[in-house]
Amino acid sequence: MSSETNIAGSCPLCNNTEYRCFPIHYYLGEKRFNVRKCRTCKFIFVFPRPTDEEIGAMYADEYFLHDGADCGAHSMTDYETAAQQGSVKFSEILGYIKQFKSSGDFFEVGAGMGYFLDYVRSEGYTVNGIEYSPLGVSKAREKFGLNLSRSSFEQFPESPKSHDIVFFGDVLEHLVQPLEMLRKAHCMLRHGGITVAEVPSMFNSIVGRGAEIIFGALGKSKRMPMPPYHVNEFTPATLQRIFLSAGYREATVFQRIKHPSTIALRGNAFEKATKLALQYPNYIVTKAFGILGDRLVGIGVK
Ligand SMILES: [Zn+2]
Repeated sequence: MSSETNIAGSCPLCNNTEYRCFPIHYYLGEKRFNVRKCRTCKFIFVFPRPTDEEIGAMYADEYFLHDGADCGAHSMTDYETAAQQGSVKFSEILGYIKQFKSSGDFFEVGAGMGYFLDYVRSEGYTVNGIEYSPLGVSKAREKFGLNLSRSSFEQFPESPKSHDIVFFGDVLEHLVQPLEMLRKAHCMLRHGGITVAEVPSMFNSIVGRGAEIIFGALGKSKRMPMPPYHVNEFTPATLQRIFLSAGYREATVFQRIKHPSTIALRGNAFEKATKLALQYPNYIVTKAFGILGDRLVGIGVK
């Protein structure tokens, strides 16, 4: 995974080397990971990129067992909660997909414990997928009878032109080589097939934009309370750009937002209160106009 691009520190999306510092950072053990924003294409990414060893350490099974809603971790709690509250979320996401493909062979990258894939199957698609965590693979088999391959997408031997839909749910922001992985997904698609990426977009919301401006103006960097799980931060513009750069003939981005009652609150009392107070107007604006969303669904067509 450590390509020349990563060693040189150039942008994973456009390969340019000019960047500005983005005011958040992470630690994994003693090692600090800064965040950069490319001056050319505005892509936001963690640098240095985590090594294979560091990724292995970050994604041990315990990743699944802690509640990590705010960092997008696929925790057991997240999955159970998502499954209970909502087919709301599942049907909303599949609703976007149905606008492009209402049936076909559906492949999920990082299928977790198989909740979404089980739902997709119940809607008439043929499903399969991969999952990196052995725990996810065994739970998906026990709970839903799904036979997921235990693999990272990087290592997965793809068969060209074999699927109609490739889905990344909360995955693309974790991949050290997102552009290459979207190209790989493109290869797996039949003509007219789609790749779908659902990602968080923390710095597209009102709170996120405010935080970027305020911390930037103060010259401060906020330490994020988790390891660098998210090595890429997408905005609507950079999510669309990465699909087009990966060879898709068109790309559409839909903006979603979490309901204020479901957001994870971190930080001190003032930060929590501010975040909660701003999520309500943000929710209304996103629902009405499709802007300032804290979640994105990008769809690229082959
Ligand atoms: Zn760039």
